[in-house]
Amino acid sequence: MPSDDRGLPCDIAKLSMRQIFWRAVGLKSVAKDQIVKKEMSATAVPETSMALIGGAISWVIWDIFVSSMVQPLVGDLINLLLQVAFAIVVAMCFWFVFLNQIRRWRFSQISEIFLTEGYCAACGYLLEDLIVEPDGCVVCPECNGAWKKERVGNLPISGDS
Ligand SMILES: [Zn+2]
Repeated sequence: MPSDDRGLPCDIAKLSMRQIFWRAVGLKSVAKDQIVKKEMSATAVPETSMALIGGAISWVIWDIFVSSMVQPLVGDLINLLLQVAFAIVVAMCFWFVFLNQIRRWRFSQISEIFLTEGYCAACGYLLEDLIVEPDGCVVCPECNGAWKKERVGNLPISGDS
């Protein structure tokens, strides 16, 4: 369970549809969003692994259960193309289903990425003009997540000493 810098359980900032799209496309070099870029680097290995597992499972399922029905109807080539398409679709589904779980496992890195860019790691709210509390944390006005002010980048802090 992700937690904030006071050790309280918190949510994990959701990705927007646009961010999910860029993640799905998987072209880190084209994505302009810094959060997308950095998250992709942080979670590339588990994300790819989940997609490969999904692809492999669906490949075997096709071989065992589907191929014998489809192949006589459409021939070898179409059967193979359908099998590839099926594997890609299932791989994408696996990736999508596990994406948030993976982001939870890697919350220490994910939170670092969001905070460095100036956003709350629990809800994605832009952190600005906040008061530093006695324990050195700023509190997100949106979700009450508390973060050490040193972790928050680009933060114009009121009452900073
Ligand atoms: Zn928040």
